[in-house]
Amino acid sequence: MAIFDKFKSLVEIRQAMEENCSDFFNIVMEDISSTTEAVVNGRKVILAGTNNYLGLTFNEECIRASCLAVEKEGTGTTGSRMANGTFSGHVALENELSEFFDRSHTIVFSTGYVANLAILSTLVGSGEVILLDADCHASIYDGCRLGGAEVIRFRHNDIGDLEKRLRRLEKRNTNVLIVVEGLYSMMGDRAPLADIAALKNKYKAYLVVDEAHSLGVLGKNGRGLAEEAGVEESVDFVIGTFSKSLGAIGGFCSSNHPELNLIRYASRPYIFTASSSPSTIASTRTALRIMQEKPELQHRLWDNANLLYKRLKGLDLNVGPEASPIIAIRYSNVEDAFGIWNGLLKLGIYVNMVLPPATPDGGALLRCSLSAALSTEQVEKIGDAFALLNS
Ligand code: PMP
Repeated sequence: MAIFDKFKSLVEIRQAMEENCSDFFNIVMEDISSTTEAVVNGRKVILAGTNNYLGLTFNEECIRASCLAVEKEGTGTTGSRMANGTFSGHVALENELSEFFDRSHTIVFSTGYVANLAILSTLVGSGEVILLDADCHASIYDGCRLGGAEVIRFRHNDIGDLEKRLRRLEKRNTNVLIVVEGLYSMMGDRAPLADIAALKNKYKAYLVVDEAHSLGVLGKNGRGLAEEAGVEESVDFVIGTFSKSLGAIGGFCSSNHPELNLIRYASRPYIFTASSSPSTIASTRTALRIMQEKPELQHRLWDNANLLYKRLKGLDLNVGPEASPIIAIRYSNVEDAFGIWNGLLKLGIYVNMVLPPATPDGGALLRCSLSAALSTEQVEKIGDAFALLNS
């Protein structure tokens, strides 16, 4: 058997799909005209699936900070912090994140994926247990797999199922780490965090919340779902990314446990990859400041989210249970989803197409994510396009 034989079924599926939807497999952003518009495969489109929640990727201050950092410190660090040393920007960003979250310690990682890999694989190991919401992101699953802990999934957002498992684990007298997200990345629904925090305290477990999609999106100060739900004190470790509201790339973990710093010496995904480039750190620091100075960005994002959610729900589309800057429409049939996705592209709207196994229940999703940078007119156009294709 040749090494690529195992991909045969994938190739067949792709070929069958490509006949109906060749654009999907060949998407190239040929020109990024602005935060909200691009030329994709020769067509000018509105970007309705960017995760660019606060619309900061083209912010002038962020761009200027990034350019200055390149000029001053070069294009990259060319190695990990362990080997090549820490740049002053890494420390400054870690301190600023600690201050923002009002926590004593923060570690910055090269991506959000690496943050989950590093923290989850290192915090718990053999003989210990991770209790994981079934809908958690792939990076959380991969982090769990990389460490030696026993991994037990509980049903998505099901407090009863979580408590049943905590009760069983009580007898084992071992460390239990509960891992959930703030806003779930696919359907945009919130974790019932107040209830989860109460269970965490009752059963003396530890709690990790990945606020990747809720940083800058939820909470009066943008600190995420834990802030909105008023349970920040019960969260042991906040994980997040710079690749969404902060418009760059990178990840972090903040905690009041001083032992967090030990992760730097024990975690392979921290030790064995290059640290973030100076330009990335500089734009992220600027975006973090702007996010705090301009709460109106969060308000604008929610105006857009509420407007589109109301519109799509009014069309009887199978949207999630609550309005959110992530609005996903479920299709039980992959071909139907491809048809609509293709139609949207032709009408000048780009959304994310999500296929199994990335979807929670095996169907397909068309996933919109809103941005504060979208104008009301652009949001109306997204709604109009769905209405036209749904008629
Ligand atoms: N956690 C969640 C919940 C995510 O949705 C993502 C990315 N979509 C990540 C982590 C990984 O973040 P990054 O893109 O920074 O690697």
